[in-house]
Amino acid sequence: NQTELWKDVDHYFSTKLHPEDPIMDAVLKANSDANLPAIDVSPNQGKFLHLLAKLKRAKNILEIGTLGGYSSIWLARALPEDGYLTTLEYDPRHAKVAEENIRNAGLEKKINVLVGAALDTLPSLKGKEFDFIFIDADKPNNPHYLKWALELSKPGAVIIGDNVVREGQVADENHKDASVKGVQQFIDLLAEDPRIDSTAIQTVGSKGYDGFALGIVKD
Ligand code: SAM
Repeated sequence: NQTELWKDVDHYFSTKLHPEDPIMDAVLKANSDANLPAIDVSPNQGKFLHLLAKLKRAKNILEIGTLGGYSSIWLARALPEDGYLTTLEYDPRHAKVAEENIRNAGLEKKINVLVGAALDTLPSLKGKEFDFIFIDADKPNNPHYLKWALELSKPGAVIIGDNVVREGQVADENHKDASVKGVQQFIDLLAEDPRIDSTAIQTVGSKGYDGFALGIVKD
């Protein structure tokens, strides 16, 4: 069936293009051993985020939604020697697994996990400037996260929001689900705010049918 085909094609690309990655494999194993939900980005999406951060030559990355640190590690690997990534996680159990994974990946000097509800920890970042922001936490709060992301962005910053398609539900204007509504409000804000120029892309793969929004903060 179609879902199996998407999985097979994802597997084809990841085994061809980034086959040997014991560190990333170990992260996924540790997450599964700790019973974390398997809602991290897929290997191809992780590598894609990594390449986007490299394209941008990002030096200061902010991530909202850490889980076990899988996407954090992909992103932090794109950083230069003096680069830094701050990642925000609500669940202390997730944060603990992430910190262990980050240490095992040798990235503990480059990544800081801030534990708490992101809307409580984001104010502590006031005054800092990020050039790459990845939003991947509780979707009902997406519009708030976008407002913070814009506030904490350098001119030219890249802002990415994950899971904006939700198997197509995003296009249903009457949808009642809080996550779908959060994503719709996020898209409306992207459309209205003159500071950012954006688009969204649908994706299929091992994580199903979804997609991401990408915006660039104007100079
Ligand atoms: N970015 C991760 C990856 O790809 O490896 C996946 C993140 S997962 C989809 C979403 C995470 O956001 C979960 O670990 C969840 O506990 C966290 N989260 C939920 N509500 C939050 C909040 N209010 N503040 C910060 N994190 C939150």
